[in-house]
Amino acid sequence: MKRALFPGSFDPLTMGHLETIRRGAKLFDELIVGVFVNSNKSSLFTMEEKLMLVKEAVADISNVRVIAQETELTVVAAERLGANFLLRGIRSIKDYEYEREIMEMNQHLNPEIETVFLLAQSQYSHISSSLIKEVLLFDGNVQAYLPKNVYQMMMEKKGEINEK
Ligand code: ADP
Repeated sequence: MKRALFPGSFDPLTMGHLETIRRGAKLFDELIVGVFVNSNKSSLFTMEEKLMLVKEAVADISNVRVIAQETELTVVAAERLGANFLLRGIRSIKDYEYEREIMEMNQHLNPEIETVFLLAQSQYSHISSSLIKEVLLFDGNVQAYLPKNVYQMMMEKKGEINEK
């Protein structure tokens, strides 16, 4: 049984994340999307909102499961879930440098767990959750980069922010 964990903060889920999930799901028997709180980044969505959005967006992919990941080492979460693989996406050289360090450290912590990288598709390789939030704040159109349900909730949130 090949089970992989795809950990991320998904604040919010973008089309780039979703494509990586779709492609990753074809490589493994089961892919678990671990939604966690990244303490280095301020969060726009609550954990409950992020979980709901990711679950809705992957509902049509039968071998994908979505969980709230506790604040702990990723390899420890993977071990507990019985996942021998970690899945991560790489958009650029910048991601590569960062992801390589994490991969080396995870290998040191648990050599049994292999990290698998997927290169971002070119139409999504320049997008990140933070860039999308920034553009949306200034009324830029980012609809093409977000799953429908995520876009809707972002527009609602923006409405709330503008009312304050
Ligand atoms: P983290 O806070 O762990 O970086 P993110 O939600 O930002 O969480 O990203 C989760 C994973 O998805 C990372 O491996 C990241 O490189 C990948 N990723 C982010 N944006 C994209 C994209 N546009 N295309 C492909 N992969 C992406």
